[in-house]
Amino acid sequence: MSETMSEAKAAFSLPKLPYEENALEPLVSARTLSFHYGKHHAGYVAALNRLVEGSAYQELELAEVVRRTAQDPTAKAVFNNAAQAWNHQFYWQSMAPRGGGEPDDKLRRAIERDFGTVKALRAAFAKAALGQFGSGWTWLVADPNGKLGLLATANADTPIARGETPLVAIDLWEHAYYLDYQNRRADYVTAWVDRLINWRFAERNFG
Ligand code: MN
Repeated sequence: MSETMSEAKAAFSLPKLPYEENALEPLVSARTLSFHYGKHHAGYVAALNRLVEGSAYQELELAEVVRRTAQDPTAKAVFNNAAQAWNHQFYWQSMAPRGGGEPDDKLRRAIERDFGTVKALRAAFAKAALGQFGSGWTWLVADPNGKLGLLATANADTPIARGETPLVAIDLWEHAYYLDYQNRRADYVTAWVDRLINWRFAERNFG
């Protein structure tokens, strides 16, 4: 009996979604979340575990794997799957049921300093997201001095590989919205910046 307990544990696990699969309806459907989380995110974690088996990477934190492989052309597959595993974990928390609304005073003051108003930030965020060509992400980030900015990254690329602190991120791969919005990326982006964005998560990341 006890021998079955010694089976090797996968290095990286799929974290639980922070809400039920239907919690973001009608803006993001349970069907989208079921595929996006249960197939895409789970697939990146499974691929990463296969790739790192028997290597030193399996002893590291996920974010550390991302940082160490970002500039290494021989570790491209590990980077892509580690970064996508990290990015998705971050994306689920970047959305909230009954999201939207306003950030707290500390973050709002920083937004007003760097973007003018919260409304102007939402517009700039949407514009950056819509300007993303092909698959990728758009991030609200803080640099090491706390200055806020927007960053669009292609494919699996992620601000944690560049020394910037992400506050929230929107997934712009078609798998994030196609079942619900088809080619209407603008409708997904608008719903996201106005009604899904999790300001509580952004505030915690801003520190
Ligand atoms: Mn995705």
